[in-house]
Amino acid sequence: MHIFAIANQKGGVGKTTTTVNLAAALAASGQRTLLVDLDPQGNATMGSGVDKRALEKTVYQVLLGLASLAEVCTSSPSGKFDVLPANRDLAGAEVEMVELERREMRLKEALAGHVEDYDFVLIDCPPSLSLLTLNGLCAAHGVVIPMQCEYYALEGLSDLVNTIKKVHANLNRDLKIIGLLRVMFDTRATLGHQVSAELEQHFGDKVFKTIVPRNVRLAEAPSYGIPGVLFDKAAKGAIAYLAFAGELIERVKTM
Ligand code: ADP
Ligand code: MG
Repeated sequence: MHIFAIANQKGGVGKTTTTVNLAAALAASGQRTLLVDLDPQGNATMGSGVDKRALEKTVYQVLLGLASLAEVCTSSPSGKFDVLPANRDLAGAEVEMVELERREMRLKEALAGHVEDYDFVLIDCPPSLSLLTLNGLCAAHGVVIPMQCEYYALEGLSDLVNTIKKVHANLNRDLKIIGLLRVMFDTRATLGHQVSAELEQHFGDKVFKTIVPRNVRLAEAPSYGIPGVLFDKAAKGAIAYLAFAGELIERVKTM
């Protein structure tokens, strides 16, 4: 079982879109996949086609030890993958977990009994370096970092890389950066190509070869509760995420 956190402390950089589409693409290629929504916004839950408002139990109960993963897990109606869903209840977890022992290990411990059940677990992290994200990083074997190729992208990246280094040193020796994924790429923008080249220079083969273009079909899909890769299979964005799933499957073979 490979557990990957999809993280970037910036909001709106494509974490949720990447998590949902990668989950659906992996599932479509026969990989048993679980999506864990760790963001109180519940966008990955909704994007998977699970109504966050209708949930009795969410990942919140799992983190607080009030329910087991099996009790809370549901599945994406369109996507053939399982979902550990989230909604606004999760916003309270941050404070309530402060009292708990091993509070950064709650998700890791919840997943421990399910090693045989999944090939991939993808954790959609919130846009912060909070206790929730820390739970994601402590549970994961690796981090996938989606990023837009814009001027300040590299600057924000160093905070995240430092956090990952600290977690690696103190809490999770397994943790590594699996790769950086360029998303929402605008092929016409000169700056995008410059930043993209800079990324390759800095991070070498940590930069995934697949580039996800800006594609309106990916942005439309969540309002139908269908992952973009299934919503319009012929769209450029869908094709890119399917290619990315293939690249990731190849990359884990060498890990
Ligand atoms: P995050 O989870 O990092 O906050 P999201 O995945 O929610 O980011 O993406 C932010 C917004 O950008 C959403 O409205 C989403 O639909 C849109 N979006 C994400 N990726 C793309 C893309 N490749 N092309 C067009 N729109 C995108
Ligand atoms: Mg998100």
